[in-house]
Amino acid sequence: MSVLSDRAKSLRPSPTLAINAKAKSMQAQGINVISFGAGEPDFDTPDNIKTAAKKAIDDGFTKYTPVGGIDDLKDAIIKKFQRDSGLSYKRSEIIVSCGGKHSFYNLAQAIFDRGDEVIIPAPYWVSYPPMVSLAGGSPVIVETTEKNEFKITPEDLKKVLTPKTKALIINSPSNPTGSAYAKKELERIAEIAISKNFLIISDEIYEKIVYDGFQFISIASLSQEMKKKTIIVHGVAKTYAMTGWRIGYTAGSEEVISAMNNIQSQSTSNPTSIAQKASVEALAGPQGEVGKMVSAFAQRRNYIVDRLNKMPGVSCYKPAGAFYVFPNFSSYYGKSYQGKKIENSTHLADFFLVAARVAVVPGVEFGADPFERLSYATSMEDIQEGLNRIEEALKKLN
Ligand code: PLP
Repeated sequence: MSVLSDRAKSLRPSPTLAINAKAKSMQAQGINVISFGAGEPDFDTPDNIKTAAKKAIDDGFTKYTPVGGIDDLKDAIIKKFQRDSGLSYKRSEIIVSCGGKHSFYNLAQAIFDRGDEVIIPAPYWVSYPPMVSLAGGSPVIVETTEKNEFKITPEDLKKVLTPKTKALIINSPSNPTGSAYAKKELERIAEIAISKNFLIISDEIYEKIVYDGFQFISIASLSQEMKKKTIIVHGVAKTYAMTGWRIGYTAGSEEVISAMNNIQSQSTSNPTSIAQKASVEALAGPQGEVGKMVSAFAQRRNYIVDRLNKMPGVSCYKPAGAFYVFPNFSSYYGKSYQGKKIENSTHLADFFLVAARVAVVPGVEFGADPFERLSYATSMEDIQEGLNRIEEALKKLN
């Protein structure tokens, strides 16, 4: 009898976390690696948020809390949705979990049954397909194109709809492409969701990281009907440089939120009490630090996109949000380095690590092999040096 479950055997570790671990281990051995692998802001958590956490400890706020989060935090989340998207939720329609990933996981467990089809536009965040599969659902991957700014079109969507379609995942702005949906595009998707009766899971974790005045719109805000069909997954990690604090949240119907609450009550219980207090300050306190981080990201984005597009054979879409670029390197596939052929994004990422000491994440992990993902949540000096190294390394391929 096998020790491991089929479920566990079917899983691989998150490739993005694995690349980071590899780069960090090389750095620990004294190798000068520049990592474009990070999925987290390089900034420190703002001081007001840290102070709120310290106060929570000093006040003895260190016990179990209600499973789905403290009322203070739910109220701050409710105000956030009202302020930013004009959406009204009750406390019973909000649940706080241990990070956005956990929010999505619990949601998948709450709504997917065996045979349910879940449409995932590619390139996608690496964790969607495994989390859907773990819940018994069937991921239906729909490829998008650079030409369409990596967004699913109504035509693409209609082609894959079946009576088993349960949900479509929209991640705007997106990890890994940084592309974001405009209101008109969301309206066309919403029309189909309503007429064909499926749910939308809207992952809005990069909502605040947008550039050039891009207007973020939540698909839930388009109409009352759409609000009923949408479940929003969100979190404080990316906006407030709080990746380690592990606070995510979900907004949806009372039915779904209450099922997620049951799952959470039998698994993790509440998210950390101290991190919840810190998140109240993050969402309800001054927002000035967010603007500063976003302007720094914007400067880096402009530089990195410009440099990549100037490299021979490389094309890079200029993203509207998040802190990733997703350049197309496929014109180098088929070339060789020291007699070894580079045939795909994994080979090229390995080549960059070995020959250039630069860590990137292969596009295949996001369902799009012509590309590599580079995070620019790292210093401008590292970005400049890392791109110099990539440029030099590409010249070695023939
Ligand atoms: N959704 C997307 C698209 C992400 O990129 C991430 C993190 O990488 C998450 C959700 C989850 O973030 P966390 O679990 O750190 O809150």
